[in-house]
Amino acid sequence: MKSNLSKFSNLLYKATVGSSTTLKQTYTRVGKAQIRQYYGSGKVAVTNGEEYLDLRSDTVTKPTEAMFKVMRNASVGDDVFGEDESIRNFERKVAQLSGHEAALFCTSGTLTNQLGLRTHLRDPPQSVLCDNRAHVYVYEAGGISFHSQAGVTPVVAKNGIHLTSEEILENLIDEDIHNAPTKVVSLENTCNGMIFPLEEIKKIRALTKERGIKLHLDGARLWNASVASNLPIYEYGAQFDSMSLCFSKGLGAPIGSVLVGNEKFIQKAKHFRKLFGGGWRQAGFLAAAGEYCLTEHLPLLSMDHQNASSLAGKLTEMGFDLVCPVHTNMVFFSSQSIGINMSDIIKELYDHKIRIMDYGKNRARVVFHHQIPQDAVEKITRVLERMVAKK
Ligand SMILES: *Cc1c(COP(=O)(O)O)cnc(C)c1O
Repeated sequence: MKSNLSKFSNLLYKATVGSSTTLKQTYTRVGKAQIRQYYGSGKVAVTNGEEYLDLRSDTVTKPTEAMFKVMRNASVGDDVFGEDESIRNFERKVAQLSGHEAALFCTSGTLTNQLGLRTHLRDPPQSVLCDNRAHVYVYEAGGISFHSQAGVTPVVAKNGIHLTSEEILENLIDEDIHNAPTKVVSLENTCNGMIFPLEEIKKIRALTKERGIKLHLDGARLWNASVASNLPIYEYGAQFDSMSLCFSKGLGAPIGSVLVGNEKFIQKAKHFRKLFGGGWRQAGFLAAAGEYCLTEHLPLLSMDHQNASSLAGKLTEMGFDLVCPVHTNMVFFSSQSIGINMSDIIKELYDHKIRIMDYGKNRARVVFHHQIPQDAVEKITRVLERMVAKK
């Protein structure tokens, strides 16, 4: 932990006072004194010349100077020709890590999810079964119907955390002339920061395999699940026909997600990627950033998990309700029980230069990432305690 932390502050030092063009501009705009102040207080990323603790999402991380250095040294081949060395190495590495034959580096997790599903779904009428909260269903602009001509069976997880094999079995649509049979089951790990237990995934794998149904994983934050459950990515990977893994969430890369599967599957996904307009050329520097994050940022995730858990503890002490259990780097909480409007809390935090995300119905989301300093939990807690005391 200690070495992680020193690596952490080192990185953030570089992020703040780095010498790349972009960062220099930020540096000038913000002013030297402020930079010293940031550096002195440790570690906050600089946003538009202002210091905000941005806890809305783990997508808001900024590339560090060390990362820029690696990016500048990346190869500059044409990836549509399959000739970029940095991308080929990166894809090979992610495939190996996940225990799959091949990998495809893409712009976004939406693209890798939709390509994965499209590649499995080749024979309509057909449908996909997933959690009713699933990103592939709710947050990808209806892509399943648009790209894959497939219906969706959204299922409510009764335990509030993950679907069970029984719930999936109950909701499968059979092969019949009246139906759009279930051809893919798509799981998500983590879902709202909650870990899908490997034992349950194994049961679902057995169930779907027996019926010739493909199993896809939206593993945008599988890295967090892997760290928190102490299970390597390939242990999860072994259960799925395909997985989408994001690098631009907690891992802190600027852009990019990877789809993994067998050779034939990835070859076809690449074909669809071109069709979708997602073939890219000299993108090696982005692969280099992704690879850098694997070695340098993956070990930092456990710190995000500790911060989230510590905040969850404080919130509970103050009388807030957690909307769901905190397993990794995300905290969802409600102000209903306290009788303060969440919009007032969000505004008060904003006035203290802290941003969190409104989730409606007096609920909010707080997400930790490696550029959130150690005293963030304390800062939030102080603001909230004052509000609760005044109530
Ligand atoms: C972020 C995310 C994605 C992908 O989102 P993009 O913004 O398209 O990269 C997919 N699934 C989940 C669960 C996510 O959180």
